[in-house]
Amino acid sequence: MLSMNWGMLGHEWAVTLLSEHVAREQVRHAYLFTGPQGIGRRTLALRLAQALNCTQPVRPGEPCFQCRVCQHIDSMQQPDLAIVQAEQEGGVLRVEQVRDLQHSLALAPYEARYRVALLLRFEEAHPSAMNALLKTLEEPASQVILMLTADSAESLLPTIVSRCMVLRLRPLSIDQVARGLQELWGIPGDQARLLAHISGGRPGYAYSLFRYPERLERRRVWLDDHFQLLSASQVQRFAYAETLAKDKESLRMALLVWLSFWRDVLLRTAGASAEISNVDCSQEVDEIAARIDLSSAHRMVSTVERILDLLSRNINPRLAAEIVMLDLPHR
Ligand SMILES: [Zn+2]
Repeated sequence: MLSMNWGMLGHEWAVTLLSEHVAREQVRHAYLFTGPQGIGRRTLALRLAQALNCTQPVRPGEPCFQCRVCQHIDSMQQPDLAIVQAEQEGGVLRVEQVRDLQHSLALAPYEARYRVALLLRFEEAHPSAMNALLKTLEEPASQVILMLTADSAESLLPTIVSRCMVLRLRPLSIDQVARGLQELWGIPGDQARLLAHISGGRPGYAYSLFRYPERLERRRVWLDDHFQLLSASQVQRFAYAETLAKDKESLRMALLVWLSFWRDVLLRTAGASAEISNVDCSQEVDEIAARIDLSSAHRMVSTVERILDLLSRNINPRLAAEIVMLDLPHR
């Protein structure tokens, strides 16, 4: 099973393309994998690193997943694989991290064919860190492959994007994710369908909700809080905002959950027949959609989107939470 499609769920076109690059020895110096979080960007990059450096490939471009190098890459513990990312999600990737990487890339590979640098969530890179990486992209060393992940190519400097081969990963169908969760990880059918829906077609996110049930529970709490806030006073809302904003990462995660909920409301308000993501809250979605108009639903979606964007640009978290509270409709 694991050998098919590099053991990936979906993105078959990308696996085919990349395995051909490896098999034909036409590997590019830099790849950029874009798409929403949990779609499989990092997994695909790690699989490519395995295909490049596997010591016993099944055939060219087809890693064995068994050899020591394959296993160490899988656990991100292989000496020729450098991982560079902001210390926490929503943080800042610093220029010093890129400089340290450049020092290690100047050395010959330790045991593998290529040194691979995996720069995760590169939209979080400080402008000086992006500029520093340009130098490495402009003067690529022959045994170095750079792999970047980002939410979109637009979030990076155009000069970086133009030096990478860009692979845009898109959400899979709900059916494909649900089937994959059952086949690859033996998740029971009902649960697999619920997770596939909540994930909006992002297999990595769906799997993480299964693997870490506390994330699923936290999502439920944030949704319940949100429904209560709809009937809460402005004072209660601001008190809630103050507590939530104490942890910026929690605030960001809560906003993502609420955004997904308001997108569902928007879908229903617009009378679209498409399936909603939060199928376990369909009653709440319908109830709110029945009471607000299209433009209010629109405004709520764009407010949360805007605040998430500002949060990534270091707006004060408490201010961010308060703006959302001010725009929240009253029940
Ligand atoms: Zn291998």
